[in-house]
Amino acid sequence: MSGSLHDRVAVVTGASGGIGQAIAKSLAFAGASVVVGYSNSQEKADRLVDELVSLGHHAVSAKGDVSTAQGASSIITAAVENFGRLDILVNNAGIARDTLVLRMKELDWDAVVDTNLKAVFMCVQAASRHLLRSPYGRIINIGSVVGLTGNVGQANYSAAKAGLVGLTKTLARELATRKVTANVIAPGFIETEMTDLLGQNVKDTVLTQIPLGRFGRPEDVAGLVAFLACDEASYITGQVLQVDGGLAM
Ligand code: NAP
Repeated sequence: MSGSLHDRVAVVTGASGGIGQAIAKSLAFAGASVVVGYSNSQEKADRLVDELVSLGHHAVSAKGDVSTAQGASSIITAAVENFGRLDILVNNAGIARDTLVLRMKELDWDAVVDTNLKAVFMCVQAASRHLLRSPYGRIINIGSVVGLTGNVGQANYSAAKAGLVGLTKTLARELATRKVTANVIAPGFIETEMTDLLGQNVKDTVLTQIPLGRFGRPEDVAGLVAFLACDEASYITGQVLQVDGGLAM
């Protein structure tokens, strides 16, 4: 698949984080020009861009809070201004603020739903006219297995990720006539800063539930993103693809 995305332009939101960095790299290594989206972590985003550019790839960083129309628009605009087009939108930015429903603050509900769900709507709205012009349009949304199963302490996050499935299937139907595909990747437990926050006892319990016997790596998710972005995946749309070591069968 190396070089298969030559001449394509991709936006990856949340590309300063663990999974997003791996996604940006896998798309760049496959030949795409990449916009590395971030909200606060400018240093991490710029470091990634420097690394990619030093290897001969095309990449720029772009700041924006994707849960707002203005932030989403500035990240999408960076693709068109720097590379002249947009073919692949990876909605990966996300946050978790876990607690039981009885203790959950309205602010924590809103922040998680806005960042994991509303942001995808915002980015798609900003990107759609560019994606519709592309013969290779792809929307790849990073969900979670807890959007399929629910999870104690994650009402806000599970609801947002479940909503993402409905949004993605709707996009798949609405955009199919223009050959734009839309899919969800639902990771299980992937080792990143998001999961570093969990206690060792939680990690030990989760590990016993993963048939493949290990936590996932960001590259496990990134490889599937690169596949969904390439021509061989042009007949896959409206799907939820789990990358979870068998956690949620
Ligand atoms: P992470 O390392 O915490 O990175 C999160 C990324 O999202 C960062 O780049 C962050 O940017 C960005 N972000 C957060 N709020 C934002 C906002 N309002 N606007 C723009 N960007 C924002 O998390 P991760 O583990 O890589 O997770 C990436 C995605 O995978 C998320 O959607 C997450 O829900 C999903 N996921 C993760 C796991 C897992 O086990 N790790 C499992 C299932 C699903 P800044 O740092 O610049 O603010």
